Amino acid sequence: MLNRVLFITLACLSLFACAEERAQVDSPDSEMSVQGSMLEITNPVIVYSSRQEYLIKPLFDRFTDETGIEVQYQTGEEGPLIARLQAEGEATFADVLYTVDAGNLWSASNRGLLASVDSASLQQNIPEHLREPLGQWFGLSVRARTIVYAKDRVNPSELSTYSALAESQWRDRLCLRTSKEVYNISLVATMIERLGEEATQNIIEGWVNNLAAPVFSSDTLVIEAIAAGQCDVGLVNSYYLGRKQVDDPDYPVALFWANQETSGTHVNISGAGITRYAKNPEGAQRLLEWLSTEEPQIMFSEMNLEIPANPTVPSAEQVAAWGEFIQDSINVEAAGRLQAAAVMLMDRADYR
Ligand code: FE
Repeated sequence: MLNRVLFITLACLSLFACAEERAQVDSPDSEMSVQGSMLEITNPVIVYSSRQEYLIKPLFDRFTDETGIEVQYQTGEEGPLIARLQAEGEATFADVLYTVDAGNLWSASNRGLLASVDSASLQQNIPEHLREPLGQWFGLSVRARTIVYAKDRVNPSELSTYSALAESQWRDRLCLRTSKEVYNISLVATMIERLGEEATQNIIEGWVNNLAAPVFSSDTLVIEAIAAGQCDVGLVNSYYLGRKQVDDPDYPVALFWANQETSGTHVNISGAGITRYAKNPEGAQRLLEWLSTEEPQIMFSEMNLEIPANPTVPSAEQVAAWGEFIQDSINVEAAGRLQAAAVMLMDRADYR
């Protein structure tokens, strides 16, 4: 128990090391902070989270209200958090790793940092394509990476698939975020799984040919470039457009669900797994199971404009306004498994 209390102190000390490793990001998923100080802890669940405090604290507070189980957390950039989990090994204080993008979760499970969980309620609440086949991590919310377009310059009837954005009608009209970012790596990885390397490379080369501007560092900048008339179409995660639409209901950029006539829109997750050396695996499993139920699922959607992973739970109004769509049913673990192949392919295609 003393060790569990010590966690809080160590977490504060290690903050500075983590902060130095922090990479450039645009997502508010990734701020760094520590909750609590020298608290007397009975039996908390300890979470390492790459999601920002404002997104996780309300959820954990509700969980504590309902179960009496306290949750302690440390937030940070996903890379350093996973590296830290690995460095700590058996001595880790973390019971749960909670992060965004299946590529990151895959990286943690591939390093042997997560435990398999056999939970009937998680298997029931989370669809098969949104969880690791052995139960090492589970999607808790869904984000779609899809097409956005300028309302005044594009008719949605002109849009169809990710592949079609490689066609010549989009020459000098496409904006993309950098290929270095995990969301695009995951998208291309699942395209490789669906279409094979050769067809995927042809598409990526077509995209690069069609770029209206050098690649951007964030999804938000892609959306703003379309709004400003710099380009007409782009690929972004749905919640970034949602934020713009909350601020301005008449925002000049709209969302189009890609691949509805083919394989479905590419989706990714925020998700969590129980650490291999968790000291409180029972509490951790209760937390994950609870996060897959209706109330927290609605909170995900309302707080970050994401789509509930549990298909029986309705999306927030703002999200539902984009309409129903078919998700690509490829297991999101492909995003991790084919990550290296995707990076090399984008390099060959000159996608910077
Ligand atoms: Fe993001």
